[in-house]
Amino acid sequence: MSQKSQNNLSMFTPQKTIGILGSGQLGRMLVIAASQLGLRTHVYAPDASNSPAGDIAHESTQANYDDRKSLALFANNIDAVTSEFENVPASTMAFLSQHCLVSPGQAALHTAQHRIREKKLAQKLGIKTPAFWHIANVADLHAAMTELNGNGILKTCQLGYDGKGQAKISSGDDLDVIFKSLQTNDAILEEMVPFCAEASFLAARSTDGTVSLFPPSLNYHNNGILARSIAPADLSDALLNSGQTAVHDLANALDVVGLLALETFVTDDNQLLFNEIAPRPHNSFHWTIEGCACSQFTQLIRAVAGMPLGSTHCYGKWQMDNLLGEDMTRLGELSNTPEVHLHLYGKTEIKIGRKMGHTNRQISLK
Ligand code: AMP
Repeated sequence: MSQKSQNNLSMFTPQKTIGILGSGQLGRMLVIAASQLGLRTHVYAPDASNSPAGDIAHESTQANYDDRKSLALFANNIDAVTSEFENVPASTMAFLSQHCLVSPGQAALHTAQHRIREKKLAQKLGIKTPAFWHIANVADLHAAMTELNGNGILKTCQLGYDGKGQAKISSGDDLDVIFKSLQTNDAILEEMVPFCAEASFLAARSTDGTVSLFPPSLNYHNNGILARSIAPADLSDALLNSGQTAVHDLANALDVVGLLALETFVTDDNQLLFNEIAPRPHNSFHWTIEGCACSQFTQLIRAVAGMPLGSTHCYGKWQMDNLLGEDMTRLGELSNTPEVHLHLYGKTEIKIGRKMGHTNRQISLK
């Protein structure tokens, strides 16, 4: 047997263990993808009971991200580690990187954890962003609103998700009250973009720097939470090209191993504007589980396991719908619809607005 094929075989050793930080639904879908490839998984998260990922992983550790003793034991038991969320403390990743391959890598995390850092990188790469201002105090907000002269959106630079940690803002509003409500001195004011659609793009990148791109999704939100994605997005060639080039360049610039998702606005005057990046699986690409030869979860596992990336060939057109707590009353109907691929995350506590699962359905064969 040649040296090259022996190396390929060693990639698939069933003893290889992928560590996953975070125990939610993204982690769970990563565990499923890893087991399909014969790999072991070890989930590490502080959450106590009912862990969607930990419940089905080979092993799980319940400990804080700054618990060095538990992290060291975890690191000794894994060959590579990835994270289902971008807000993992930088010190945790730095510690783990001394022991094993870390995906997406510290540069990607550092940039994606901060809305201004990620927008500055986008600008450096020639990717258009909405106008924005760094807001450290209420005086900054007054000055920026005067310059903006219109509607804006004020967001915390860090730790916001699903529309949390942000407030819409118009010139007549009480800026002092709005600034106080955000409870931060590290915020960003963005111009309110008049958009006709939101589109997301996704790149997978392997350890040797090979990049593969998924077809993009068009996204529809309710109360700041993603409700539906349709893919492949029906975009003009120019917009498609600009989004795919942007996510490709960002993944390379950040030296990502794993996934990089890019959220954008399609403006009323037909431009693509950068909104944010996430170096992890993205909700708007859950349709890839049935819709593509290799799902986003399989691509990430392949990348962190040091395997070559698979094909992102897409079979027809897909619709993904999130199932929140309030949608659980429709489970009977959904499970009785043969063309619906039902994915439930095994969460025992049903809450309004909580992501409980999603459905994928093929809406066109072509
Ligand atoms: P984000 O957390 O930045 O993804 O924002 C959540 C949602 O708020 C987005 O999906 C948009 O629907 C909306 N939004 C965020 N930023 C802007 C903006 N600058 N202009 C218009 N809408 C925005």
